[in-house]
Amino acid sequence: MQEAELQLIDGRLVLSRETAGLWLGLGYVRAALEKSGFKVGQPVLPGGAPQDFTDSLTEIFNNNNSGNILFIGCHSVSLPMVLEALLRTSPCRKARKVCLGGPGTLRLSRLLMERFTFLDAVVEGAGEDAAVEIGGFWKGGPFPRSRNLVIRVGEKIIGKAMPADSAAWFDLWPYCEMPLNGSHVAPVAWSRGCDCNCLHCVVSAQNGRLQRKDLDSVMGDIHRLMTDHGIRHFDMIDDYLGGTRTAVEQFCERAEKIDITWNCSLRTEVIDESLAARMFSAGCRHVYIGLESACQSIRSALGKPSPLAEALRAVEHCRKFMSVTCSFIWGFPFESLPDFVRTLALIRELRADGVDTASSPFVPFPGSPLTAEYAGKLIYDPDLAPLALGLFDKLPEIAQGLVRKHPDIFTAFGLLPDENFHRKVRLYEEFQQLN
Ligand code: SF4
Repeated sequence: MQEAELQLIDGRLVLSRETAGLWLGLGYVRAALEKSGFKVGQPVLPGGAPQDFTDSLTEIFNNNNSGNILFIGCHSVSLPMVLEALLRTSPCRKARKVCLGGPGTLRLSRLLMERFTFLDAVVEGAGEDAAVEIGGFWKGGPFPRSRNLVIRVGEKIIGKAMPADSAAWFDLWPYCEMPLNGSHVAPVAWSRGCDCNCLHCVVSAQNGRLQRKDLDSVMGDIHRLMTDHGIRHFDMIDDYLGGTRTAVEQFCERAEKIDITWNCSLRTEVIDESLAARMFSAGCRHVYIGLESACQSIRSALGKPSPLAEALRAVEHCRKFMSVTCSFIWGFPFESLPDFVRTLALIRELRADGVDTASSPFVPFPGSPLTAEYAGKLIYDPDLAPLALGLFDKLPEIAQGLVRKHPDIFTAFGLLPDENFHRKVRLYEEFQQLN
């Protein structure tokens, strides 16, 4: 076997590696690199409890010597642990180049390069083209042209990290061979991006405007996973499936010809009862719908495109045929206590009707318009951040130290200034115990 030139590391914090598999985004980067002739090592998926994540990564950086280039994908929540592990191991990495990417770097590339001098490059957003170009550059090829890349050359930091070009990205790359870890479910993407720009959301900043992959190519991915891995259930991980009613119908037309089941996220304005019925007959068994709030004024303030009444009708249509999860976000400064109580009441009603719900305080991920609006005004409370992030009982010491030192980078560990926040937390905890 040829020696690898590059090593991909999936730097997400996930609750279970058995079900997580390889991050699909990193899988596409791998496919792009391999198609361009790079020898890529088997992706590394660090495991372990969130509290031990830095130690797991440190061990990997110390002991995995595959390839002279490390591409590390990370999420905002794992970013301090990844950086700490890189910092600890920087003397032993010597000639190895390090490129950081994934949603965790969004809007942060220059700051990261300035403050963490052991980083050689940072990619923001879709990373397939940038990874191929920077890999080529470090092998002696031409200077990278990707707009979403910041690179260190000697003492200089070059690049502005603009949004990635909306190239025909993943049509170009064959489906990646992901480690599925024996899972019976595989992630598949048909589209990415969104034409809305809701205040609380990072999808547009991360993935740009809605782009769809050629449907033949998606069905090819599905057939390959069926044939090669015996997979029959697919998690359609599009930011929302297809984007339009016509697109969802086209997908159904293809899916109903094969024996599969699938889940997806949906935009509520495309759904009526007949489409919900058609989705079910095409194999859809679960939909995920972001309601965010029970108050029309909050939904409007966030920029949610459909009226609340229409969104609730969509939930009702879907519920007749398949299971539904509705998600809610709270803790906005413009959300009054009565607004919040109405949201809790709607959650209770939906649960009583058999709808699953997910709810959490707003997390100021870099890239959302709301995070930008409150830059410099976020509150850092190590006891409350875990509530929003959901992965920690308590924020690890390492994260706390870095967050205190670089609050403008680790915004995801902060909270928006909301005078009612502590009261909302108490009400929320009481509500969770009773319901
Ligand atoms: S919340 Fe949904 S509709 Fe709004 S920007 Fe994000 S993906 Fe688009």
